[in-house]
Amino acid sequence: MPEWPEMEHYRSQLSTLLGGIKISTAVVNREGSINEPPDTFANALANRTILFVERRGKHLLFHLDDGNRLLLHLMLGGWIYYGEQAPMEDSHYQVIIRLADGNSLYFGGLRLGYLHRITAKLAHDQMKQLGPEPFDSRLTLEAFTKRLKSKRGKLKTTLTDQRFIAGIGNCYSDEICFEAKLHPAIAVSELDAEATERLYGAIKKVLLDAKEAGGYMEYPLTAADHLTGGYNSRCLVYDREGETCGVCGNAIKHETLSGRKMFYCPHCQGSE
Ligand SMILES: [Zn+2]
Repeated sequence: MPEWPEMEHYRSQLSTLLGGIKISTAVVNREGSINEPPDTFANALANRTILFVERRGKHLLFHLDDGNRLLLHLMLGGWIYYGEQAPMEDSHYQVIIRLADGNSLYFGGLRLGYLHRITAKLAHDQMKQLGPEPFDSRLTLEAFTKRLKSKRGKLKTTLTDQRFIAGIGNCYSDEICFEAKLHPAIAVSELDAEATERLYGAIKKVLLDAKEAGGYMEYPLTAADHLTGGYNSRCLVYDREGETCGVCGNAIKHETLSGRKMFYCPHCQGSE
């Protein structure tokens, strides 16, 4: 599932491509991916201008000039393509937004994911359920420590809790724990000030490095996009069961924690 780096990479690319661009129409191949009848959706989007693209947690919000928003969550398996023509036939995409400049936005793999047209108020209400953004300037080490102290769970479960901090999922929670040299199943109440500071720094370092490397998405956004997916080969523990830890040479372990996969180095990350 795309996380902060992938969605932020999408946001920065789409902001340049879509800001001030008019929508001509929308094609809906899967009604379940949207939140209203396809005709209503297409008619409402026709001739609307996309003012800008915002990201909040793992969501993208396309701000329209009528005050409404298109709220996108890619969930598991979703991706976006932008261009005059998509790599696959149009019928493979659940929703296509045709733009007046001849390009289209193609939404693929939207099975669990969705693209909802909602009011600004509804968008605001939904987004306010989320915890702070990892790079929110108000999330100082002090504020982060305070938030962490109010939690009772395990580290990975806490990091992936969107109400605790927005945008971190299965992959980057493991990478963050590895960078911070902390076992993903440690109880957060066990973290002392030094460990908390390492964790705070690791969140920022891992997410920013991953974003700059293009994240781990499989499909590029445009034909000219060669950056997307650049972080895939740089994950140090996630999905690397049995492979050698780059720091100590021991084998990376895989276990399940509350139904989620967790990958870690038992030597570098100590015990629970
Ligand atoms: Zn190691």
